[in-house]
Amino acid sequence: MNEEWLKTSKIDSKKFICGYCGNSISSNIGYYMSNSYHNYSTPSGAGYIYICHHCNKPTYFDFHSQTPSPMYGKNFNEKIFDDQKTWLLYQEIRKCIEASAYTSAIMASRKLLMHIAVDCGAEKNKSFQFYVDFLNNQNYIPKNSKEWVDIIRTKGNDANHDIIIYEETDAKQMLQFVEMIITIIYEMKYKLETYMHS
Ligand SMILES: [Zn+2]
Repeated sequence: MNEEWLKTSKIDSKKFICGYCGNSISSNIGYYMSNSYHNYSTPSGAGYIYICHHCNKPTYFDFHSQTPSPMYGKNFNEKIFDDQKTWLLYQEIRKCIEASAYTSAIMASRKLLMHIAVDCGAEKNKSFQFYVDFLNNQNYIPKNSKEWVDIIRTKGNDANHDIIIYEETDAKQMLQFVEMIITIIYEMKYKLETYMHS
């Protein structure tokens, strides 16, 4: 079944990254704002709503901004994850960063990295440092990215009973590390399997 929005118009083509699905799209389908000066028939330029042709959801543009704006971080295909919860938690980290909730982003990143390490065979109920070392010792962290290990370890130093308020740079660094790990552990494996079976 093919569902679509009714009464859309052809408007000036616009390239943007969809804030819902993360796809880079070029769309000329949507709605425009008009006024009496424009006889309510041509765009006044004050606002447009573009419809994403991947997920069908609407994005609003005014002169300066896009709502919703694209989420920070790499957009992974949900299919690369065996466990959908891994994907959901990764998306939650991106949403935290979008909402400037950087400390929450770090906490969720730590949880995700611990989960990924266990998924790769690490023992359960260990410390965050243990899991970072595990990923490093098992060579999931490439040789030229070893310095990341120290950066990430320092963001895991606080025990859960301490409160450290983290900043944007910390959260974004942590997410970049998480992206690298997900790329190596899940995405490359998925791409290889897809390639072998095509
Ligand atoms: Zn979309």
